[in-house]
Amino acid sequence: MSRFWNSRVRGLDPYVPGEQPRMQRLIKLNTNENPFGPSPKALDAIRQAADEGLRLYPDPEGSELCQAVADFYGIQPTQVFVGNGSDEVLGHIFHGLFQPDEPVLFPDITYSFYPVYCSLYGLASRTVAVDEQFRIRPEAFQPPNGGVILPNPNAPTGLALSLAEIEVIVAANPDRVVVVDEAYVDFGAESAIALVDRYPNLLVTQTLSKSRSLAGLRVGFAVGDPELIEGLQRVKDSFNSYPVDRLALAGAAAAIRDQEHFERTRDAVIAERGRLTSELEVLGFEVLPSSTNFVLARHPDRDALRISEELRSEGIIVRHFKKPRIEQFLRITVGTPDQNDELLAALKAGGKA
Ligand code: PMP
Repeated sequence: MSRFWNSRVRGLDPYVPGEQPRMQRLIKLNTNENPFGPSPKALDAIRQAADEGLRLYPDPEGSELCQAVADFYGIQPTQVFVGNGSDEVLGHIFHGLFQPDEPVLFPDITYSFYPVYCSLYGLASRTVAVDEQFRIRPEAFQPPNGGVILPNPNAPTGLALSLAEIEVIVAANPDRVVVVDEAYVDFGAESAIALVDRYPNLLVTQTLSKSRSLAGLRVGFAVGDPELIEGLQRVKDSFNSYPVDRLALAGAAAAIRDQEHFERTRDAVIAERGRLTSELEVLGFEVLPSSTNFVLARHPDRDALRISEELRSEGIIVRHFKKPRIEQFLRITVGTPDQNDELLAALKAGGKA
């Protein structure tokens, strides 16, 4: 605590990102990165952009990237906003599109950055309990509220709602912005981008960190009504007007256009998720049905924190959350077949100890 911190900074309880250890030869299954790697075309585009042109600022709106996203989804570039990772895009949404007079609603078990943004931007919040099976209850997100945000699929549960269930939430809140955070949508849920032409209050966010395996490039985007997008541009231009750098714009546009690599690596993750799930079940774990690139699993007789510490001593890191309702679970990112085999072997050995 410093006397130079203002009262808002003193009151913050910042988000704690998953560890990014420097140790070599580590099996890193703690932050839902994609082990199959980015599109070679994206890497080429980044190399090509690394030239004299870096002398110049990037395109402030990232128009070429907006166009690539628009082409991919068959929408207009005026419906797309790009930012430095979807975390930054979400920050602008909380800052500029949620109303401060009523609480922002989000599930009680969800992405732990949402309450942090609320405190940063002075917004009240209220959590909506997921049911006994950890499923989000669409009918529970009702006005009055200052806005609604939920991931689909949800994190860290991995569970997805159907498009019809998402529509229930969007339709129930016509006077408030409803944000569907689709960081993991490509691994098994239907995108609500299909609804944006019909609902001017719907904003969908996505990231290139997961299904495009570009977490290090920091690119995310929002899709919605052009007036919502214009609101986000107003916030951006009052904060950092050139957020996405030249290398990131070039690499991200090339990644979005490389459909073949996207589909092949996504399918590989989905196949491995299936195998990891059934092998964990063989070891006695209960595994929630995941639509993402991670699984949330618990063992009826083994303490989750202890398992995570045992795995760490074997050089394998997974994520444990000291949070109500999920503290006996581990969130495990789907790795390569070899990584998953090593994880399963370590769990099997630990079970015998
Ligand atoms: N939303 C959810 C639900 C996430 O899990 C993450 C990743 N931590 C993000 C958004 C942000 O991802 P990024 O900033 O890498 O786009």
